[in-house]
Amino acid sequence: MTSARPPVHCLLVDDLEENLLALEALLRRDDIVLLKARSGEEALELLLRQDVALALLDVQMPGMDGFELAEFMRGNERTRHIPIIFLTAGTADAQRRFRGYEMGAVDFIQKPIEADILRSKVNVFFELYRQRQLVAAQRDELAEASAALREADRRKDEYLAVLAHELRNPLASLHAGVNLLHRKAGTPQAIPIQESMDRQIFHLARLVDDLLDVSRISVGKISLRTERLELATMLSLAIESSQAHIDAAGHSFSTDLPADPVWLEADLTRMAQVVSNLLINAAKYTPQGGRIALSAHEVGQSVEIIVRDNGLGIPAEMQHRIFDIFAQVAGHRDQAAGGLGIGLSLVRQLVELHAGSVSVESAGPGEGSSFIVRIPRVTAA
Ligand code: ADP
Repeated sequence: MTSARPPVHCLLVDDLEENLLALEALLRRDDIVLLKARSGEEALELLLRQDVALALLDVQMPGMDGFELAEFMRGNERTRHIPIIFLTAGTADAQRRFRGYEMGAVDFIQKPIEADILRSKVNVFFELYRQRQLVAAQRDELAEASAALREADRRKDEYLAVLAHELRNPLASLHAGVNLLHRKAGTPQAIPIQESMDRQIFHLARLVDDLLDVSRISVGKISLRTERLELATMLSLAIESSQAHIDAAGHSFSTDLPADPVWLEADLTRMAQVVSNLLINAAKYTPQGGRIALSAHEVGQSVEIIVRDNGLGIPAEMQHRIFDIFAQVAGHRDQAAGGLGIGLSLVRQLVELHAGSVSVESAGPGEGSSFIVRIPRVTAA
């Protein structure tokens, strides 16, 4: 698999063209790019443009010699850590001259060069370079993962605060209701109190159900009860459970559905829950008297179900986040009616359990929204 790795760059510096060619011939490999410089100045220019894994420097060059070049490299933040192999004519004296710079990785090869020694030294440095790159990539991945964890943790804290608030409000009114009922039992005044308590209990039960669903899905505990069913059956069930919300807000509601039967292999209750969540959201996030449309059509081997409204819309920067749990558009809290930003994450998880996908389109605030669910269809009953 070596060839799949990105190539590493190696700098060769020698004033004699024939030496450069000889080094090139010795080191040529698919995963190495050899950069050649004929002087120290040319080498420094190349280093400004390109990161290199290793530099092979001829010590004796006219003008800036190999040691001076190394000194420049060590003095520059960008090139300080590049390992250097000096190619020397051969006395121990020359090696001693460089003692002052032995901080970084430095090695010496005597001329005439022995091919095996050169290759094995070069390989050691390349391997080190690869390892360093790997460690850096892993460090970046870890940093990303820990930032994501911190963000999830922050959202969980935020959510717990909202959840506590949301649960406390209906409980407080239920408590007050029970006290009142004690006093008003059997009188006509008891009826609206009971109705209000019913609504609060329904809201509480729904919050708790959604929370349970989300946590069951995230630990893989929801299993679909799939059956072969008609799209129209599922959609009527969804409409039935959302109609009251649509009517209560005085919206008009239209449908555009396939004339011929379309068959799905799906969990009736769960898919109806998906569509009705989208319809109820459309009703919630559209000002009184809006338009809501449900349409469906076949696209290749899938069916596309679209819930469109002409309501508040969703700002572009929120559209990729809207299916994350607890994500809510900042200005929509008043319309959320006690919702906690769980519904759409449930929608996405349920659709994905059906091997489908869900997306949103909105031209922005005030421009309405379309939610598009795509799930596989089956060819015959
Ligand atoms: P909830 O409605 O309980 O807040 P959801 O997960 O169903 O939670 O929706 C998340 C957020 O997405 C909502 O708070 C709202 O800001 C936005 N949203 C969902 N549906 C629509 C829609 N049809 N039009 C505009 N905004 C929407």
